[in-house]
This record gives sequence, C-alpha cells and structure tokens, in this order.
Amino acid sequence: MSVKNDRASWLHAGDARCSIPPAVPRKIYRPILLGAPGVGKGTQGDLICARLGTCHLSTGDIFRAAKCSGERERSPALALALVFMRHGDLVPDTTVLNIVRERERCLRCRGGFLLDGFPRTIAQADALGILLEHNKLKLDAVIDYELPLEKIIARLAGRRTCPDCKTTFHVTDRPPREENICDECGGKLFQREDDQPEAILIRMAAYKASTQPLIEYYRRRNLLITVATADTPEETYQRTLAQLQTLPSPATTAAASQFPPSGRPPG
Ligand code: ADP
Ligand code: ZN
Repeated sequence: MSVKNDRASWLHAGDARCSIPPAVPRKIYRPILLGAPGVGKGTQGDLICARLGTCHLSTGDIFRAAKCSGERERSPALALALVFMRHGDLVPDTTVLNIVRERERCLRCRGGFLLDGFPRTIAQADALGILLEHNKLKLDAVIDYELPLEKIIARLAGRRTCPDCKTTFHVTDRPPREENICDECGGKLFQREDDQPEAILIRMAAYKASTQPLIEYYRRRNLLITVATADTPEETYQRTLAQLQTLPSPATTAAASQFPPSGRPPG
C-alpha cells in the first residue's frame, strides 16, 4: 500500500485539508523519530509513511516550505524560525510550539502520525505530552536511529535536495541519473544551507545539548526503540518495522477519530 499525502494542513496550517484517505481497517501507528541530523530520519519517515499510511509531520519540512513561500505569506513566527534554521541553530521552543499548536489537528489524523524532528528538546517533549493527553492520544514508540559521527558528516555533506519534490540524493551513495537533476521531477538539485560544513557542526552541537537528553526521557517512559542504521534504507526500514511490530498491539483497527488507546502501558 502506498499513500501519498500532500500534507497541506501540516505544512501551511489554516484550513487546508489532509489528503490521507479514509481509514482502512489496519493498525494505526503514532511514533516519533529521534536521531541526530543525517542519520536518515527523513528517508525512513517517507518509507514508514508510504507503507504504514501515517501522516508525516516534520517540523523541518514546515520551515523549508515557509522558505519557499513568499515573504509576505510568512507569519512572523515562521520568519523568525528561518533565521535560526539558516545557521543550523534550533528554533526557540516557544516558536516551534506555537507552530505545532496551530497544527494540532494533524495529530488526530485518521492515518495516525509520524513525528519527525519534533520534539527536539525536553520542553517540547513535555508540551507534546500535554497536547497528546488533551487529544486522548498515546505514542506507540520513540525510534532512535544510531549511526557513527563520521558517517553522519559524510552523509550530510554529500546530500543534495530537490527544491520541487523534496527528494534527496547523495553525491556518491545515491547519485541522480543525470548530474544535479532530480530523477523524480527534473528539478535542479541544491545543497541545503544547513548542510554546509559550518552549519553541520552547529546542528550536531545542538543535537547533543538539546535532543540527546530525550533518549533518556523516553527510555524512562518505556517508549524507546533503538535501531542501528543499516547500509540501505530498505534494510533500516525492515529493522524499524520488525521492532514496531513487537510492540504490544493497541486496538488500532478502528478509525483514529475514536482515539483508540494505543501505545505501551506507562513504565
Ligand atoms: P535535520 O535535517 O537536521 O534532521 P530537520 O529537517 O528536522 O533537520 O530540521 C531542520 C532545521 O529546522 C533544524 O536544524 C532547526 O533549525 C529547525 N527545526 C526543525 N524542527 C525543530 C524543532 N522541533 N525545534 C527546533 N528547531 C527545529
Ligand atoms: Zn524532484
């Protein structure tokens, strides 16, 4: 099964509609993806969402979408976020939380959700806990991807992104068929500003200081799953899936609108 969701309601808030089709009887997942920049969260996020039908809620994608939109369409909160993002710094918690709260209903997506890049700090995790409780939703798991630092840096520095369809390539590991041209849509590939060497160092430092503590935070809540990234995205996906499937099965064949209790018992 492959569900391609345009995520307009997540990327642009307002009254845009989610294109996830009506829930089919199947398990509905609600995990978070953790892991340092460059471990391949985005790629895994795409695979998980396409195959499990969850809605891909990436905060980084909101900021990138804002970057592409005209300056006048940006809310002040988004304009401020872009200044931090450009340097590789974390966007301040209050800004991120305002942006996520504006999109709160995406958490209730009938396809379930996959949070990617949020939460990134303890304060964000606490706020998310309150939002979920308020919506009577529970997390299934927090997936932490592991990869040695030198590999992370090589991955980020070689990454090239399509501005139009967001597909990512890698100069050596996943080169496009034609140099600098997107295989999917013909877009002209570029290097993200925050994939430049100086920004990579800042992002790694921000990750260590702010996000790494979340590993312990979720381990204590008995939600942590650790996946060592494999050589291919497919292999990593299979490892992730295997772990997700060992979770106690929540009653998730019903429509998400009924907020079935999901996730592990509190640890
Ligand atoms: P990466 O490619 O580093 O995994 P993302 O695509 O998730 O990063 O996010 C890109 C940038 O957007 C981050 O470096 C940061 O500036 C900003 N950002 C995204 N999500 C958050 C968040 N939850 N809190 C603070 N800043 C964020
Ligand atoms: Zn493209």
